[in-house]
Amino acid sequence: MKITKTVGWLLIITAAVSLAACTPASASDVTEVTVDPTALEAVVGTAMAAPSGMPESPAGTLEAPPPPPDVTPGALTEAEQQALVYMREEEKLARDVYLAMYDLWGLPVFRNIAGSEQTHMDSVLTLLTRYEVADPASPEAGVFTNPELQALYDSLLAQGSQSLAQATLVGGAIEEIDILDLEARMPEMTQPDIRQVFENLKFGSSNHLGAFAQQYEQQTGTAYQPQYMTPEAYQTALTEGGMGGFGGPGGQGGMGGPGGPGGSGGQGIMGTPGG
Ligand code: MN
Ligand code: MN
Repeated sequence: MKITKTVGWLLIITAAVSLAACTPASASDVTEVTVDPTALEAVVGTAMAAPSGMPESPAGTLEAPPPPPDVTPGALTEAEQQALVYMREEEKLARDVYLAMYDLWGLPVFRNIAGSEQTHMDSVLTLLTRYEVADPASPEAGVFTNPELQALYDSLLAQGSQSLAQATLVGGAIEEIDILDLEARMPEMTQPDIRQVFENLKFGSSNHLGAFAQQYEQQTGTAYQPQYMTPEAYQTALTEGGMGGFGGPGGQGGMGGPGGPGGSGGQGIMGTPGG
């Protein structure tokens, strides 16, 4: 962190020097150049948010936080409130199922993506708090306020307990449902901070969907077929999630490898964190 800070200050100095060099003013004017402290803050923030040029983690752990609040609490439409309440528990469903699947099967991808779902839950909670909407999420794993999500959780848990291949199918199903639910709600979302969070959640889901599809193919030797999405929407999601091409962002060239526990130890969601 100290190194990053130093880099940040170097950037500021470089920027200041560049400003001075580019200003077509006399030398006496240059001495009057002042730098807005908020601009400095922005430069430091940018430098610290992208340490050593590391690409965003596929699991979404480095997702940008929502924009600063510029909101009137309690000003949401009914549709927006319901969407936040629903998505909060849907992200919890994903997290709770994956943690249960990790306990059962020990495949690191479940633990890693569960961590990403926790950040998604946190993002929605931030919005619920900001707009003073009650949080529906129980602190207890596998318990849901929404009866439909409770039924879905119970059903997916039973399916994923049958085999590892079924567990990876369950992962794919959850991500497909998540993407479709986000897309269905997006047209009614007018608040920019809600739209941005939902876009982030959808990006994460697209990435996770590609990871589970790949795991399914490794387990069964057959191609993953979309369970809820159209083939076209599925291909679009894979591309958006960075898995539809040649390794995607972050140099995930290792995704095609054996990928077993203790495998590549890469930074991707398939590897074991910390190597
Ligand atoms: Mn999610
Ligand atoms: Mn997900």
